[in-house]
Amino acid sequence: MKQIPMSSPDITQVEISAVDQVMHTPILSIGPQVGAFESRFVSYVGAPYACAVNSGTSGLHLGVIASGIKDGDLAITSPFSFVASANVILYERAIPIFVDVEESTGNIDPALIQECLHDLARSRTAASRWLPAAILDPKFVLDKLKLLLPVHAFGQPADMDPILRAGSEYQIPILEDACEALGAEYKNQKVGTFGKAAVFAFYPNKQMTTGEGGMIVTSEKNWVELFFSLRNQGRDVFDSWLKHSRLGYNYRLDELSSALGLAQISRIEQLLEKRERVAHWYNNRLQTCEHLRIPQIAPTTTRMSWFVYVIRIDSSIDRTAVMQKLEEKGVPSRPYFSPIHLQPFFRDRFGYKPGDFPITEKLGSISLALPFSSIMTEEMVEYVCRTLIDICHNIQ
Ligand SMILES: *Cc1c(COP(=O)(O)O)cnc(C)c1O
Repeated sequence: MKQIPMSSPDITQVEISAVDQVMHTPILSIGPQVGAFESRFVSYVGAPYACAVNSGTSGLHLGVIASGIKDGDLAITSPFSFVASANVILYERAIPIFVDVEESTGNIDPALIQECLHDLARSRTAASRWLPAAILDPKFVLDKLKLLLPVHAFGQPADMDPILRAGSEYQIPILEDACEALGAEYKNQKVGTFGKAAVFAFYPNKQMTTGEGGMIVTSEKNWVELFFSLRNQGRDVFDSWLKHSRLGYNYRLDELSSALGLAQISRIEQLLEKRERVAHWYNNRLQTCEHLRIPQIAPTTTRMSWFVYVIRIDSSIDRTAVMQKLEEKGVPSRPYFSPIHLQPFFRDRFGYKPGDFPITEKLGSISLALPFSSIMTEEMVEYVCRTLIDICHNIQ
């Protein structure tokens, strides 16, 4: 029986040699590779400045700090995401305001953002509808809102135009969680160039990898200077090794990872094209199956950056049973995403319960990520699809 991997990095001799070369030098951190990786990244994404960090989560944390958010402030974000995009708000003791998503894409719904902002501005009573039950406190009003943190879910851009309008109308900075969307385009413009800052991630299942790693890009010179300091224990450029101008972190990306990242970003187009080809193999085989739905692409998405391949299973079919049967045939799958507000920690801390964000919960209950990577062969995709279609037909 075949065992298909859920995801896989795409590593060639080019990457191996790049890392090997660094291994032959004495400089394994704070050296030339990190700057070279940042320059190359900037020229690909088209944002003015970049700062490499040791994970996507670290990058998002620094982006949240740069927004100036403080204890008890508010940030609007999506509950249909990987948990890190909400956790980074909690790291600064601020409170996420979840806004439900659009059913077609799973991205945050800009109409609901507008409604939320309107209510926060209107009155304390109106605002309370958007605040978590356990934190109902009338002192939370519009002037506490410091950040919009949209997520480009599954490699598809969020609907940025109305989000940007909302941000400028209320003068609230936007931090894009682009961790799943390197290379994706919204109306022919690359994600990462819309907000004041954006973050990409390089865990091994992402479009490119550095092992662990991330990159913050920004249009603000003073923000990137802050990021350089924060990732390096709060040292300023002219500080000596033991002078720390502010509270900082060790969020540095080492030279080995940076060399790997430089090699990967140098062939990112090839990596994205290979992923797109795999997605089309899936689409062609699954689009006629009446029990499931292939990913929906919004008209504003002029380029999808395929991160995962997520189908929706007919709600009359027992998804857990499908996953179980797939597993028996050597095909792993994941119920992706699991809504953030229903994670145990978020329920305990904020009092969230099922029913709070119905679209997110619906998508959470019917979505299924299938094995996906740039190195999948057409034969592997064929096997996964045939197995899945058989299971769906026989399970009823
Ligand atoms: C991968 C990812 C992150 C960051 O992940 P790290 O593992 O910390 O690099 C953040 N947000 C989303 C939506 C992600 O998919």
